Amino acid sequence: MAGGSEVAETTLSCVKCGKPAQLQCPKCMELKLPREGAAFCTQDCFKASWSSHKSVHLKAKLSSLGQNSESVSDDWQYCLKKGQARTPKLPQFDWTGSLRPYPISPNSIVPAHIDKPDWALDGIPKIEPNSDLQHVVEIKSPQQIEKMRECCRIAREVLDVAARMIRPGVTTDEIDKAVHEATIAAGGYPSPLNYHFFPKSCCTSVNEVICHGIPDARKLEDGDIVNVDVTVYYNGVHGDLNETYFVGNVDETSKQLVQCTYECLEKAIAIVKPGVRFREIGEVINRHASMSGFSVVKSYCGHGIGELFHCAPNIPHYGRNKAVGVMKAGQTFTIEPMINAGVWRDRMWPDGWTAVTTDGKHSAQFEHTLLVTEKGVEVLTARLPSSPDVFPWLKP
Ligand SMILES: [Zn+2]
Ligand SMILES: [Zn+2]
Repeated sequence: MAGGSEVAETTLSCVKCGKPAQLQCPKCMELKLPREGAAFCTQDCFKASWSSHKSVHLKAKLSSLGQNSESVSDDWQYCLKKGQARTPKLPQFDWTGSLRPYPISPNSIVPAHIDKPDWALDGIPKIEPNSDLQHVVEIKSPQQIEKMRECCRIAREVLDVAARMIRPGVTTDEIDKAVHEATIAAGGYPSPLNYHFFPKSCCTSVNEVICHGIPDARKLEDGDIVNVDVTVYYNGVHGDLNETYFVGNVDETSKQLVQCTYECLEKAIAIVKPGVRFREIGEVINRHASMSGFSVVKSYCGHGIGELFHCAPNIPHYGRNKAVGVMKAGQTFTIEPMINAGVWRDRMWPDGWTAVTTDGKHSAQFEHTLLVTEKGVEVLTARLPSSPDVFPWLKP
């Protein structure tokens, strides 16, 4: 069966429009990438997809960096190739703080009966980057809203499982496994798993990690702060939330940072209602963060969510941003400010995921999925009566 299969050739469909595909992206062929993610019906569809499609090439190049570069060893390939573990040998990198990567465990299994998003098998979202909902903010129907409510409640319960585990000595890999199992037990799929090849079922961001930290074998230490970011795909929609937790006894600045970040999210949610400009969210967050001497991350934003994991609107958390549009009843999106104790600038580890502060100081984040209602806002991922008491400022 060696060589190109004629049968497979004719059954491929265009990544953009779904019609039978006649073309293969030449760059993808050169990089030997999966053919399903590289198929297009016409040059027009190929050109129209280019701005989103090209990221596939970048990811593939990053993953092969190790073979060609002396400074970046192939220890860093782990997170972009399925099933590959981080090796214990530390790669060369100009670390910004004291955190280091640890080995990652083999990929978790998702049972066949779980309904999966289109990236689950090959790591490439196909519907999402080509959808009109990247430009138009969807107004959800009552049926869609009911699905979002249920999915977001499940996501909250899954995050609460993680929150109850936080203590010195627990590895972020153990937290990931609990998130994975709880999601599947609820009948959901952990949305981050294999999304653009992300290797785990949630993000765990420790200390100077701003976001997208990969769960690994590092044990949480007394004095750490750790953010756990959970997204669940259930009944055709996604629900997304995160919280930052204290591990044992934390220094005063980190306590203030985490509480301030919580308040930034609360203050931003408080202005959400029909007619408010999306760009106002960043003004509110920036005002509260800078009042405490903290700074706001600019590279990562809140996002629309629903049948798609990430879509319009894009919601910057910093001041003087250029976000367009006003809120309307029926829209669902996240607000997820990342606030730094030091400078706002971020840097990426060579794994292509882990975003860290450039000065190595701590960063905190909180996130909710929200619904704009006629009167204001409904927090779809709100805390439940069963949610654990982990924030001192919420204690009665
Ligand atoms: Zn999230
Ligand atoms: Zn999010």
